Amino acid sequence: MGQDYSQQINAQLPIVSDPEVNRYVNLLGDQIASHTSRADLDWHFYVVDSKEVNAFAVPGGYVYVNRGLIERTSSMDELAGVLGHEIGHVVLRHSIKQMEQQQGAQVGVTLACVLTSICNSQAAGALINVGGTAVFARFSRKDEAEADQQGVINTIRSGISPQGMPSMFEKLLQERRSQPSAVEGWFATHPLEEDRIAAVRAQIASYPASQLRGLQTNSSNYTSFVARVRSLPPPRK
Ligand SMILES: [Zn+2]
Repeated sequence: MGQDYSQQINAQLPIVSDPEVNRYVNLLGDQIASHTSRADLDWHFYVVDSKEVNAFAVPGGYVYVNRGLIERTSSMDELAGVLGHEIGHVVLRHSIKQMEQQQGAQVGVTLACVLTSICNSQAAGALINVGGTAVFARFSRKDEAEADQQGVINTIRSGISPQGMPSMFEKLLQERRSQPSAVEGWFATHPLEEDRIAAVRAQIASYPASQLRGLQTNSSNYTSFVARVRSLPPPRK
């Protein structure tokens, strides 16, 4: 999977082009990815201009995070938890077979269905079959639990508090109870229940307190980044 492949994918997605936004998401993503066993990959992190709550990783080190998710984080470690989880999918080589058999542009269309509401609109009638395919872009519960474990390990290694991951997941579960349509994309691709959050909390509790003390939970760069994302024109999808 090379540069050309990712360009074909990205051509199908509404990617935020703001340089400051891109700089920060890549800085934070690289900080975590560089502490994994796949530090050798050429990692790329993209913000998708969509109000849907979702994030997705493509084999090879391409990680996509939606504005809708970023705008729901309230501290740096929550964003790091989501990135750590997605990075975990790449490190563990969790792949979506249907996606592996597709060309770059087709992966882009599938991702557009997964990450944005484009396939839900009447106007995108031609894409509805592809939307059906998007249902397959779903990780197993086992993959999810493993990506969580990797996320905890790698955020701690990079000096960031792992508490943001369960905190963010809890927030998404709460929103599913009150406003399910806003977060359905996330739950369609990343099966998540209370027991998964409990497992992450148990894993964190297994670390000695001395190792968790002093880990970073927030930063002024994160605060500026989120303010910048919020200031962008509202997403259409
Ligand atoms: Zn996942």
